[in-house]
Amino acid sequence: MYIVQVASECAPVIKAGGLGDVVYGLSRGLEVQGHCVEIILPKYDCMRYDHIWGLHDAYRDLWVPWYGGAIHCSVYCGWVHGRVCFFIEPHSGDNFFNRGCYYGCVDDNMRFAFFSKAALEFLQKSNKRPDVIHCHDWQTGLVPVMLYEMYKYHGMEYQRVCYTIHNFKHQGIGGTDILWATGLNKEPYYFNYDRLGDNFNAFALNFMKGGIVYSNSVNTVSPHHAWEAHHTEVGCGLSHTLHLQQDKFAGILNGIDYDMWNPESDSYIPYQYSKDNLEEKAWNKKALRERLLLEQSDRPLIAFIGRLDPQKGVHLLHHALYYALSRGAQFVLLGSATEPGINAQFWHEKHHLNNNPNCHLEIGFNEELAHLIYAGADMIVVPSNYEPCGLTQMIGFQYGTVPIVRGVGGLVNTVFDRDYDQTKPPEERNGYLFYQTDNHALESAMGRALELWYTEPEEFRKLVIQGMEYDYSWNNPAEEYIKIYDYIRHK
Ligand code: ADP
Repeated sequence: MYIVQVASECAPVIKAGGLGDVVYGLSRGLEVQGHCVEIILPKYDCMRYDHIWGLHDAYRDLWVPWYGGAIHCSVYCGWVHGRVCFFIEPHSGDNFFNRGCYYGCVDDNMRFAFFSKAALEFLQKSNKRPDVIHCHDWQTGLVPVMLYEMYKYHGMEYQRVCYTIHNFKHQGIGGTDILWATGLNKEPYYFNYDRLGDNFNAFALNFMKGGIVYSNSVNTVSPHHAWEAHHTEVGCGLSHTLHLQQDKFAGILNGIDYDMWNPESDSYIPYQYSKDNLEEKAWNKKALRERLLLEQSDRPLIAFIGRLDPQKGVHLLHHALYYALSRGAQFVLLGSATEPGINAQFWHEKHHLNNNPNCHLEIGFNEELAHLIYAGADMIVVPSNYEPCGLTQMIGFQYGTVPIVRGVGGLVNTVFDRDYDQTKPPEERNGYLFYQTDNHALESAMGRALELWYTEPEEFRKLVIQGMEYDYSWNNPAEEYIKIYDYIRHK
């Protein structure tokens, strides 16, 4: 099969969070199973060009219709760790992708509406006719809309769309200008509740809703989150739409790329290891402490890696930090915040704890350091309010770092409580869960994990190994996506 991914991220060249990992990992997983995959991305000024090999002009004169005229674009092609990627660069005063950031601009909906249109225009003009176009998140929600309303009549009638929602919180809300810019025009038609009309604001268009309505299949990134989105407020206003489209809606658990996340070959960590020589993990812990100027001592080390966003349970994170310190553990946090209030709060905390030899807060995005933390920490805490899938717990398993997580979304599908899980025998349990959003709940899980570390090190080691034995690679999820592609292709 020939599959084209259209996305706003692809790790490690463009990565703000899990979406980047998934686009890369899934593409590689599909290729391993014999399929041809290409990835279309925006050409951001701030992406990691050092991860692209052989970048060259692939299509010079792409004119993308926009409002009454057209914007001239160049399309570059290069290899990102073996994946073929096309990068679209518009030449216009709007400077859509030369902003020094991936997201967070006031005109984000215009930027990604343009990207979606340009991706389709590129496919059409370059005579690429994939069997499946796989779109991700709100940024590409308009791709299936424009495909079925416009491009279908220009030689793309056989292309099918699989749409994956990684986060329901960001849906892409726009007004009539989007319709005039993209050439969809017909306002009353698209504002209709059955199409792109937002479920709560009659004057708004919802990109994600468009993606759900127009795609041939829709999924989110874990079975439990699919249920939550359909039946609870986690669907962020789209539950009814999902209900109407339930026949084509599913949850497929993400994987992680076992080449990128492999302690046996990871070049970002000083000591490679596997479950057969776990002693080496202790050397990484030492290296991590050296790097972050933490005290070298016989204490457990708990980490958090993730966006500092209300979604990630930042209120519990504060408590996790102080609780860890109160129990004699060390705590390392690596995170970046987009909300100025949260950012200021963590900077304040960082200054406050500056001289504490058992704690380090690293505020910002740092891929290399993330690898060392996964390798050096004993436990990783994921206290999310909601979590569509969550990759950090799965990466934790790979690196022998025991996850302590809140029982929501994909965390429920991947972490099985050592003491209380009812579905797995003791020898298959791999971490700790808590359910409520209060400090006591968090403490109960962290407390149990720390207790085991302090009092039964051999049992803790067993738990580590049980986690490392899980297969959360892309092998299984890639197969599930292939089944979906096959189904929509022949329907
Ligand atoms: P989300 O997609 O909601 O951000 P996930 O758990 O699905 O969360 O994926 C997070 C990914 O981003 C993981 O690969 C994690 O290691 C990485 N990550 C998150 N924050 C940072 C950071 N500040 N520095 C480096 N990597 C980070």
